[in-house]
Amino acid sequence: MGGQSLHIDIAIIGGGIAGLWTLNQLRARGYSAVLFEQEALGSYQTIGSQGMIHGGVKYALAGAWGGDSQAISSMPATWRRCLAGQGKVDLRGCEVLSEDFFLWSSASLQSRLSSLLASKLLNTEVRKVAAADYPAALQSARFRGQVYRLPDLVLHVPSLVDTLASRCRDAIFSIDWRQASLRREGRRAVLSLPQCTLMPEQLLLTAGAGNEALIAGLGSTEPAMQRRPLQQVLVRHEFEAPFFGHCMGSSASPRLTISSHRDRTGRPVWYLGGDLSTGAAEAAPAELIARARRELADLLPWLDFGTCQWATIRLDRAEPRQQGLLKPDRAFLGRLDGLDNARAAWPTKLTLAPDLADEVERQLDADGILPHHPQELTLLAGADRPPRATPYWDTLFQ
Ligand SMILES: Cc1cc2nc3c(=O)[nH]c(=O)nc-3n(C[C@H](O)[C@H](O)[C@H](O)COP(=O)(O)OP(=O)(O)OC[C@H]3O[C@@H](n4cnc5c(N)ncnc54)[C@H](O)[C@@H]3O)c2cc1C
Repeated sequence: MGGQSLHIDIAIIGGGIAGLWTLNQLRARGYSAVLFEQEALGSYQTIGSQGMIHGGVKYALAGAWGGDSQAISSMPATWRRCLAGQGKVDLRGCEVLSEDFFLWSSASLQSRLSSLLASKLLNTEVRKVAAADYPAALQSARFRGQVYRLPDLVLHVPSLVDTLASRCRDAIFSIDWRQASLRREGRRAVLSLPQCTLMPEQLLLTAGAGNEALIAGLGSTEPAMQRRPLQQVLVRHEFEAPFFGHCMGSSASPRLTISSHRDRTGRPVWYLGGDLSTGAAEAAPAELIARARRELADLLPWLDFGTCQWATIRLDRAEPRQQGLLKPDRAFLGRLDGLDNARAAWPTKLTLAPDLADEVERQLDADGILPHHPQELTLLAGADRPPRATPYWDTLFQ
């Protein structure tokens, strides 16, 4: 390992949305910061997400949230400011897939949905959609349900990752743990690299599910992590009109969540989540695909998808360990026990990345850690740079 020391304000491990957003926000505030990624930027949860930036309405429907004053309800507006170049992080250039996200119900459940919306969402920007403005997938004389428009938006996740990486390219490096290690020096974490020993004022672990091993490797037990496994379904087809929406069924969570994407050849792919995927982590792919086919035939029987190809992807949501119902209204940032300069973070939602970075700033301020060391990375010159992760619709279909 390298003998020279490199002092820096912030070292970040893990280049998903949490690490990349925090890197951008802290750099904009004048901190020197560097990020290390062991595979490709955005691997696992970020590239596997549906890209929805939502204001928490689905939690309100589930009764897990009161619909007011929570961090998540302000998130769509925060992201829109960043997309316009007026926020703490500059997202200009990031592609927006949709400014619309719909909530719809079948005829048999429409009165339940209306009363839920009336009771829980008085103060939100949820609007009933007139039949003439229904998304193409619901424009059928046979559709008898109701449609609402949510204040949410959907981003093209590869372009989000690229945009965040492009603004801090000089500070993002690959890391190979066969040649690098995190270790304790007294109550401080340091990072040994082939080129040098990195001594950060603050180490931030934003490695998603990878945080668990990093925390244990540093000899800490807190914060503890949990995984929530799920299995999403992908269907590549020939129905051209994009569709973004939650279908509400008889349970309080969405029965089916659909987002629309295009593979590298331009063919439409629907990515299916919601109850279909959360309860099905252990299902055999063929069985889950059969269930997904039945759901689409049941909910949208008028649609002709043309030739379809199907695939599934199993992913874990990584979150702080907690008891009881998850209240996904805030990002999590916690100190590693036994260390004075290390914290681990789980945003719990792509949507909450800005909330996480704000919390990082708050905790750094509380510790009196201000921008101090120069952004001088000559010692790392020559280190490899990570690529960006490839969307699953570009790897799972032949
Ligand atoms: C199927 C699915 C759909 C989702 N849809 C949405 C949605 O539409 N909207 C929403 O708000 N949220 C959504 N989420 C949640 C959201 O994707 C996650 O909360 C968020 O992406 C987590 O980001 P992260 O940066 O913490 O972790 P990750 O995205 O998992 O990134 C972790 C990064 O760290 C790297 N890494 C791991 N270990 C190490 C190590 N030891 N050293 C260096 N690097 C390491 C990984 O390679 C990866 O690049 C979804 C989640 C899933 C699973």
